[in-house]
Amino acid sequence: MGEKFDVIVVGAGPAGSSTAKGCVEAGLETLLIERRSQIGIPVNCAEGIDTKGLEDHFPPHPSWIASRVEGGRLYGPNGVVAEVKHPRAGYILERAIFDRDLAAMAARSGAALWLGVEAVGLEIGESGIEVRIRRDGKEGGVKGEVVVGADGIGSRIGRWGGLLTPLAPNDIVCCCQYLLVHRNFLPGFVEFHIGNLIAPGGYAWVFPKGNGLANVGLALSPPKAQGAPKDYLDLFVAKTYPGAEALGMTRGAVPTAKPLNPSFTHRLLVVGDAARFADPLSGAGIANALRSGRWAAKAIKEAFLEGDFSANSLSRYERRWKKGMGRELNFRYRAKEVFLKLSDRELDEVTHIVKEMFTGRVVGSIEVKRIVKGIIRSSPRLIRLAKHLISI
Ligand SMILES: Cc1cc2nc3c(=O)[nH]c(=O)nc-3n(C[C@H](O)[C@H](O)[C@H](O)COP(=O)(O)OP(=O)(O)OC[C@H]3O[C@@H](n4cnc5c(N)ncnc54)[C@H](O)[C@@H]3O)c2cc1C
Repeated sequence: MGEKFDVIVVGAGPAGSSTAKGCVEAGLETLLIERRSQIGIPVNCAEGIDTKGLEDHFPPHPSWIASRVEGGRLYGPNGVVAEVKHPRAGYILERAIFDRDLAAMAARSGAALWLGVEAVGLEIGESGIEVRIRRDGKEGGVKGEVVVGADGIGSRIGRWGGLLTPLAPNDIVCCCQYLLVHRNFLPGFVEFHIGNLIAPGGYAWVFPKGNGLANVGLALSPPKAQGAPKDYLDLFVAKTYPGAEALGMTRGAVPTAKPLNPSFTHRLLVVGDAARFADPLSGAGIANALRSGRWAAKAIKEAFLEGDFSANSLSRYERRWKKGMGRELNFRYRAKEVFLKLSDRELDEVTHIVKEMFTGRVVGSIEVKRIVKGIIRSSPRLIRLAKHLISI
């Protein structure tokens, strides 16, 4: 405590480790702090990532990969199943190992890594920042030039910096997930089950990891639900995989909001879930967490080169992520708003349309925007609901 760094990154998830790695490689004295006592544990994620989302950043290390994803099946509320074959769709990760290795990469490059240290306050002044921290019950402070909030969905760094407003109830999904074992979990295909009785405003997923294991979970939109995610998940598991045994359970939430705007202020940036970069439609946030970390590190490097840590200087970060993913995230946000309005009949129609689009085909890429627009154009009822999406 009492030390000084160039950059202090709060939170050692994918966003924080990616930012810290980028900063230290830019020659900056970087501190990564994490309140948990072990990086990546407990795993609070279904661990799916698309091939590009991972390989744009790192060649996949075999120890990170539980299984490969070669396609997906979408189950409509009334039993229609659409299958999409995509041999290089993605991976199911071992996130405990993945997250730990990302932090290790940052540390190997020279970042200081403080575990079991929680950020409990923040002061931003003209001449620097001070993060108030708690370790082993004792409080202290650590000083820096720039602070990065990589502290996840409930980001306090973002709130202390005056950036974060409360999430609207429609802009969050609440999740529950089991790690299940069952002889019918075969790696290769992921499953998505939609329907207002199954997972109102969200979906249930089955992400097989190999060895008869799968992450089986469910996300729902609280205003649409009549009970807790676990109640829905228990019904889903009993119906779909009776006899499966649970090896673990986790609960969590994902922001399905528009990205935070602004995502920076004087001497402060927020990245990953803290900046609401998870895909509003699917809830996937690992890849965007990694991307945002890279953009943040670049903007911080430039701020140091110029000796200018003003909001104006750090606004380069936002320009970059907007260029890289802003339009896509906004499109998916609007698509999510339409999805929230769909009845089971319409969800069935969507499943039928996806089935017709993909049956008998093997695809090399999935362009969400094109698929969503294709679905809407195939149904007069959906066109009425989502005219604005077609014109984007
Ligand atoms: C049930 C569930 C399933 C999911 N499945 C998928 C999926 O299959 N694919 C996908 O891409 N995404 C998935 N997500 C979303 C994904 O997990 C997140 O988008 C991703 O982890 C975001 O990374 P991050 O680094 O921004 O935040 P996080 O991974 O949440 O990391 C934030 C870190 O900050 C630390 N922290 C918080 N506050 C403080 C503090 N005050 N001081 C110090 N440390 C602090 C936390 O302990 C944590 O380690 C899922 C989420 C949930 C809840």
